Amino acid sequence: MAKTEPCTVLGCEKAAAASLDGVSFCQEHFISTCYKEIDRYAHLVREAGFRRTAAESMHHFLTECTRQATDLSQHAEELDNLARARLLDILLSAADLSRHLRRSPRKVATLLLRLHCEKPGRAWEEETKTRVLSRHGALLECQHPAQSGDALLVLRLDSGRQALARVVWCHQKEEGRREIGIEFLDCDNFWELDWSVVETTV
Ligand SMILES: [Zn+2]
Repeated sequence: MAKTEPCTVLGCEKAAAASLDGVSFCQEHFISTCYKEIDRYAHLVREAGFRRTAAESMHHFLTECTRQATDLSQHAEELDNLARARLLDILLSAADLSRHLRRSPRKVATLLLRLHCEKPGRAWEEETKTRVLSRHGALLECQHPAQSGDALLVLRLDSGRQALARVVWCHQKEEGRREIGIEFLDCDNFWELDWSVVETTV
């Protein structure tokens, strides 16, 4: 999209950085709009009358929000740490909501893991640690060039527990360092936390 386009929020004079449904937003208003919509859908899905039409519009929003947030987190030149953390949080929330129809809390925690990728021709394995946990996934550091959609076998070095996960996004940092978001495919509470008492720490 054209970078010269202005943000459509009334009174905002910043340049557009992303869009949702054809409506352009600056970085800040994109983030706040995504949070607003994620919260709105998170409430909506809990209501008894959540209908197919609402589910379709939610799916459409989450798909677009994920695409735009990934793009913004990878290509925006001026992205401070807070904005980046928020974009990654939006990505985790969108993955949660689209897959489990709920948004779960986040917990900042460092757990040691071994990741194993068996992609033909470029299998790899590494030991790494988590940065943020969510009920259905995590944000991790990763040295290898993981790609969205890759399947990973995740082993907890503390408990020996393992599960299959899917890479839901990658963020390339400086000097080859990389963060990835993963989502578990076959495990409901891999971190063995009581999520009903976890307060969001991001
Ligand atoms: Zn704006």
